[in-house]
Amino acid sequence: MEIAAALEITLQDFPGKIAAEIFTRGCNFRCPHCHAKPMLEGSLPPVRKEDVLSYCSSSGWVNGISICGGEPSLQPDLEAFIKEARSIGLAIKLDTNGSHPEILEKLLAEGLIDYLAMDIKGPLELWNCSCGIKCPAEKMKASILLAQFFPQHEFRTTAAPIARPDGMISFMTADEIGKTAHFIAEHTGCRDHQYFIQKFIPRANGLLDARMEKFPKTPDNLLSAMLEAASKWLPAAQLRG
Ligand code: SF4
Repeated sequence: MEIAAALEITLQDFPGKIAAEIFTRGCNFRCPHCHAKPMLEGSLPPVRKEDVLSYCSSSGWVNGISICGGEPSLQPDLEAFIKEARSIGLAIKLDTNGSHPEILEKLLAEGLIDYLAMDIKGPLELWNCSCGIKCPAEKMKASILLAQFFPQHEFRTTAAPIARPDGMISFMTADEIGKTAHFIAEHTGCRDHQYFIQKFIPRANGLLDARMEKFPKTPDNLLSAMLEAASKWLPAAQLRG
């Protein structure tokens, strides 16, 4: 398990849990707005999984672990790590870009995940732009179907600027977020999903595509319009950040 960074505690990332948060190294996507550049580039000193688990078991109050990326499903020993964490009583939240449904399926079948969070990179026609690669759309669609069967799940979209096929860069629109929510509802045949629209927050010298650093935070009026558009399809949609 290649862990690029770890936080001792998060009270917000894993609902209902006092969780440690780990960030695995590497990702198969290159989302231009990604904040995880140091995790992707391997510029941070590695964190030992033994140290993370030992901290969790000795803290006395950590009862969960949130596994973020990078993309955790790229880690060959992810399942073994999760089993080890569960054996010391930790609940597990896993973040994913959905590119490895076969791994999600196995984790689901074995009952190893308590909370799955999956990124939906906007409406289908923007996925390649939002992911920064020719994305494995069919696999991502399969993961969306699987996500709803975990004990708890959420879908989320970062309301970020998009480098569009015509070369322009502009914020995802409210209509595009509405289409995203429509797609989730239609693809799963269900409107009862937790869906978070996350505020984009720029970071100097910290995003995968430096052109995104010139953009402001997602404007509040755009977020409100996005929420209204998403709520038509997913009534439990919420803003985050
Ligand atoms: S935002 Fe994109 S590139 Fe960054 S870790 Fe997530 S999936 Fe990978």
